[in-house]
Amino acid sequence: MQEIYIAYPFTSSVGPSCCRLYVACCHSNIILSSLYTPGHPLHPHHQATRGARPKLLLLSFDGFRWDYVDRVPTPNFHALMEEGSIVEQVENTYITKTFPDHYTLVTGLHAETHGIVGNEMYDPDLNASFSMETHSAYEPRWWAGAEPLWVTNQKQGGRSGGVMWPGSDVEIGGAYPSRYLPYNASLSFERRVETMVAWLMGERPGEGVRSVQGGVDFGVLYWEEPDESGHNLGPENPLMDAVIADIDDKLGFLRNELRKMGLYESVNLIVTSDHGMTQLSKDKVIELDQYLDRDLYTWVDKSPVVGILPRDGKLEEVYSALVEANPNMVVYRREQIPERLHYRHNNRIMPIIIEAKEGWTITQNRTTGPHMLGNHGYDNTLPSMHPVLVARGPAFRQDYVKSSMRSVDLYPLMCHILSVRPRPNNGSLARVMDLLSEPSPPTHSTPLEGRYQPSFATALGVVLGVVMVTGFLVVIVKQMTLRQLPSRQSEMAQPLLLEELQL
Ligand SMILES: [Zn+2]
Repeated sequence: MQEIYIAYPFTSSVGPSCCRLYVACCHSNIILSSLYTPGHPLHPHHQATRGARPKLLLLSFDGFRWDYVDRVPTPNFHALMEEGSIVEQVENTYITKTFPDHYTLVTGLHAETHGIVGNEMYDPDLNASFSMETHSAYEPRWWAGAEPLWVTNQKQGGRSGGVMWPGSDVEIGGAYPSRYLPYNASLSFERRVETMVAWLMGERPGEGVRSVQGGVDFGVLYWEEPDESGHNLGPENPLMDAVIADIDDKLGFLRNELRKMGLYESVNLIVTSDHGMTQLSKDKVIELDQYLDRDLYTWVDKSPVVGILPRDGKLEEVYSALVEANPNMVVYRREQIPERLHYRHNNRIMPIIIEAKEGWTITQNRTTGPHMLGNHGYDNTLPSMHPVLVARGPAFRQDYVKSSMRSVDLYPLMCHILSVRPRPNNGSLARVMDLLSEPSPPTHSTPLEGRYQPSFATALGVVLGVVMVTGFLVVIVKQMTLRQLPSRQSEMAQPLLLEELQL
């Protein structure tokens, strides 16, 4: 397929890399030396990142429930756990659906604030409908409630790459990722990985050269499984074992590709998902037609959290008909939705929502389906809805098990690793700082590319020896002092309303 490359707006003039080689220490964020001589071994963490910002790759296996890693042998996941960290329970955001939760991971915002409140939406202000399965999903106006990390990273001097991640092929805030692939479900996982790894390496088609300095430093990569199989088979189906084993093999492919390119030790890798999956039953179906005339409402979002838009003047009638109709569902007026769900303050949330109890399906009539055996979207405190999360790389603590976190906290953590100032968000770095190999407060590194010009060094010449080294150190200290990035914005652990954001 055609690869799309967007002109990178932040030009850097690295110049002839053979004579200007910088070594950035990924741990101390201090420039160690400009005096690298060929043949001198670099610390493994630096070999692929010299002169570049820390690299971070965020990988989502859609619908990979947290406990799948112990269901069948998953040697690659377990290798990552030993080399890095695992979080046992990640509380994702409500509703536990693909588009809302993927946007939460890259914004640190709950759905009511970032605005992608479902896979299917109706916006009364726009008088328009959104579906992840139609062209509407590419319309910027749906995504404009937040700025994803790939855009923020670029605004602050980084380069981002997006492979199929929801929203990563949409123009948001006037920008696409520096490099991205438009969504194509038929593109294999292996091809997606090869593309991303090439971007991390700074490859461009036809040029035949690589420049790690020119590579992306933040990548997001998406794969549709095991969600699809989980829906079709049901998570308790023994056939899911092979699906999970295949995902582990795919993770192994990624690890090998990173190794082949010398990136494995330097790239920070986060493997996670948007949600889990729970088993459905043909005996657990709620038929709304039994309780409510279809002419009274429009059905907006699908089971298990159904958005109901009553016809004008029919809100009370619809609510009264549903509220005590079936003990296996809970009916809320929008203003009654519990605060803990952070799912109230947005016009795209319908005036009435119906939430099925775990394992139950809401439909209008069982003959019209759906006919799935697994689903997600339920209450985000249910363990069955929780995704996996493992992370390894120089930024992460090794062989560490964390009991729980919230998915909104991943965003400030990623910003910290990338030395990016976060946008206002619902997460907290403090709550996940223990995942880091160096949990002390961050010292932001200065972006290096094209900015540091030690031209006087060559003027002094080798004969100056120690004098030159001393001179370098003085200049480096000055540069670091002058170019320190501003400190992080204060964290915002409280829920944010749309009107509080200035995006
Ligand atoms: Zn999903």
